[in-house]
Amino acid sequence: MGRVVVAGSINMDVVATAERHPRVGETVAGQSVMYFPGGKGANQAVAAAKLGVPTTLIGRLGRDAFGEQLRAFLAAHGIDLTAVKDSTGASTGTAIITLAKADNTIVVIAGANAEVGADDVAQVVLTPGDVAVSQFEIPQPTISAFFQRAKAAGATTILNPAPASAFDSALFALVDILVLNETELGFLAGIELGDAPTPQQVTDAVRELKPRPDQTVCVTLGARGAVAVTNGDAKLIEGRAVKAVDTTGAGDCFVGALAARLSQGAAMADAIGYANAAASISVQRMGAGPSMPSAEEVRAWL
Ligand code: ATP
Repeated sequence: MGRVVVAGSINMDVVATAERHPRVGETVAGQSVMYFPGGKGANQAVAAAKLGVPTTLIGRLGRDAFGEQLRAFLAAHGIDLTAVKDSTGASTGTAIITLAKADNTIVVIAGANAEVGADDVAQVVLTPGDVAVSQFEIPQPTISAFFQRAKAAGATTILNPAPASAFDSALFALVDILVLNETELGFLAGIELGDAPTPQQVTDAVRELKPRPDQTVCVTLGARGAVAVTNGDAKLIEGRAVKAVDTTGAGDCFVGALAARLSQGAAMADAIGYANAAASISVQRMGAGPSMPSAEEVRAWL
């Protein structure tokens, strides 16, 4: 049994709701303000920890009220936070979201997340069987340093290249499993994939990424499930028919659950089916962190 070690972002999502969005220069009266722990790194760590797997998070928080609240929230989920350091001067990562008539605008301030560096990832000793996970909300050189250490230790690496951003082949070479959605795949493959690409179109786009035969590329397709491509062989994992109420964090649940299951020694096909089931539970509840299922819930659902 290994651990899940996530190097990634920790944010407070501040959501303001209003009847309509203000125009530039205008002030409108809002209806409510809500605070949700977020950031892809934190969400994925919460998903893995809720599934009962020992989970370590590497990240940074500001020395401010959001930092304190997020530290308490993550600790309450049993996540090892010894490698979550305080920033020297930056604020805690924050997403300012305005929500009006189901349309949102989002401004993300990386803050302390931009300071997560190679020294931070060097604090955690990885061992064979561990699963190292990262996303593109911390600097890419940090992810490279993290994955170099993981590969040298015999751990498995999962990269979730979100939000989509170009990355060099040296980083891709360190990745065992790439997990991305259709938008990110279209961006990285340089292909216009449209709204609901067929599994064949997805497989063709994955080929553009030129994965090695030993690498798996797993593309999440929302309600339609996921396609996993290994050595040119594509497998469709059918989405589970559920009544979705909020898909926020579904991708993060998928990544966290995949890592959790692999750290327990599961084979790839089993782990992907498990992640698909876990994520389909998460979309039936509101929020990101609070929607992540427990191991018992996934077992019952499978
Ligand atoms: P988000 O950005 O909202 O977190 P994403 O775009 O990264 O999501 P999706 O592809 O939308 O990721 O969803 C990830 C996984 O969640 C899917 O592969 C699937 O397993 C599950 N899922 C998402 N939406 C649904 C749904 N409506 N019904 C069942 N399962 C779903």
